[in-house]
Amino acid sequence: MTIKVIRSRDLLLREIQICKDREEKVAFVPTMGALHEGHISLLRRARTLADFTVVSIFVNPTQFAPHEDFSSYPRTEDHDINLLRLEHANIVFLPTVQDIYPEGTHSYVRPGPAAFGLETDFRPQFFDGVVNVVSRLFDLVKPDLAVFGEKDYQQLCVIREIVETLKLPIQIVGVPTIRDIFGLALSSRNAYLTEPELLIARRLNVILFEAASRIKQGEDTTKIINDTQHALLNEGFSKCDYVSLRWERLLAAVWLGKTRLIDNVACC
Ligand code: AMP
Repeated sequence: MTIKVIRSRDLLLREIQICKDREEKVAFVPTMGALHEGHISLLRRARTLADFTVVSIFVNPTQFAPHEDFSSYPRTEDHDINLLRLEHANIVFLPTVQDIYPEGTHSYVRPGPAAFGLETDFRPQFFDGVVNVVSRLFDLVKPDLAVFGEKDYQQLCVIREIVETLKLPIQIVGVPTIRDIFGLALSSRNAYLTEPELLIARRLNVILFEAASRIKQGEDTTKIINDTQHALLNEGFSKCDYVSLRWERLLAAVWLGKTRLIDNVACC
């Protein structure tokens, strides 16, 4: 069956109703497009778990602050649709802002404690925007399960928490981070990096894995975090927003020029 490219809320609702009538299990993969192997790994997992897969592509304005990269965020729609066709997604949903926010962009759900600190300290609007858009997409797609990447680990925790709080009948599945051969976590924002920046970016995962191995050996974590921040700056990262230990992961956000990168590794 070939992929259906759906650009309107009403058409999507109709297709989902057909699935529900057939008692098919629906899996959902929300994305902002500029798809890469990381996104595709979520779709592949979704396909193993459900009869029918829906991938959304929506660059959500509410999770960007005015000074952030909403307008320059990479948009590669034709490439994305072709990739999803090759990977046998059933529906790609490309809603308009009006479809998602028919009554305006105000939030009617609030993220829980998992959103405290880390990303929120530097992007205070971010998780409000994420839970707002994800809960609206869940309302439309009504999935049995939804797949998210561990690459955005705090986001995965925030989503799990909101689904639990709202008692939504949706299973949240986390998928490990897909990396390039140098260990750099794939990200749509890697497209912003210049060649010299790319060389530095590839050091992020190496430094985090080294720190995680020291944590596993029982060294003092405050010292390790301190050393890691210094190591990142010494490698050429322009700024380190945070290196922090939470959920048995070492999480970091750093800047390379105008590009912000996040990554995390298990450390227990
Ligand atoms: P985005 O399009 O960046 O909003 O990401 C959409 C989904 O893909 C989120 O659940 C991300 O965590 C996930 N994702 C992004 N990059 C990767 C990656 N390198 N490996 C696995 N999942 C990823």
